[in-house]
Amino acid sequence: MIENIDPDVFVRIQTDLLVVGDSIMTDRHHASNGNYQDDDPQNQIGGIIPAFPLSGWLRHGMEEVVHEYDGTACHPGEANANFMKDDVYERDLDDGYHEKGACTDDPKEDDGCVVFELFGGFGGVPGKVMRRPIKFNPVRSSVDYTRGQAEGHYRRLNRNIVSRNADDNREPLRNVEVDAVAHLDGCWHLSFREMKPEFVGLLAEGVDFLDEHKTDFMHQLGGARNFGAGIVDCHLINPLYDERELKRVFDRGKDNTKKMDEKDDQWAEEYRPVFVEAMEERIEEGP
Ligand SMILES: [Zn+2]
Repeated sequence: MIENIDPDVFVRIQTDLLVVGDSIMTDRHHASNGNYQDDDPQNQIGGIIPAFPLSGWLRHGMEEVVHEYDGTACHPGEANANFMKDDVYERDLDDGYHEKGACTDDPKEDDGCVVFELFGGFGGVPGKVMRRPIKFNPVRSSVDYTRGQAEGHYRRLNRNIVSRNADDNREPLRNVEVDAVAHLDGCWHLSFREMKPEFVGLLAEGVDFLDEHKTDFMHQLGGARNFGAGIVDCHLINPLYDERELKRVFDRGKDNTKKMDEKDDQWAEEYRPVFVEAMEERIEEGP
């Protein structure tokens, strides 16, 4: 069954507001001819959301799924990293994690736990799922969903940090500028370097977990979560769709074709349960 699944899979990501610290790369310098105005509604600026925050967000969702099935996952941090509190690492190890890389003696010979196999990060192993950045563009006709792109608007938000002292009458102390993407809707492209049924099962379950927990602070994406950013609607786009069907998902004027509905049933009833079962068995086996 896994041989019918293309190693390139797509996760639909929709969010009203995404703040990725200061790390959104934009083409504003090209677009503006040097006359860029933050608040100009005519801004037609695209950019790139780096893979790093997306990857951490997905990984966390997958780790939670592993925990739900009573498994432990590789800790995302190095054992010798300087944690803010010494006991944090120890506490995590009691709480569904094992030391990063402890699940494999030799990462080149032995796969380790499923989270390690997918994300790597130890002994020079890159992980078997390649996470790409998302290129976004405010002009929908320029968005190529089959290449993992999204419609979205770059915005620079300005926030005044005001004095808390009553005597100061909320006098602004400083102004903070934050890079944000508004009204993001598109595809995140993931490529498996090697296909295994449990990989697809864990991806499907992890993405569902994130969607169900999207308003939990821990499972929001990026920064500024206290201000309502990073609440993401997400789902795995049916891996059985071909390119034309993938594009149709984003065509607001068109519904699913009959063929797409059939593929949805096939995915839900035949494929997905097999992959989730493979994941369950893999987690049960232990790292
Ligand atoms: Zn591990």
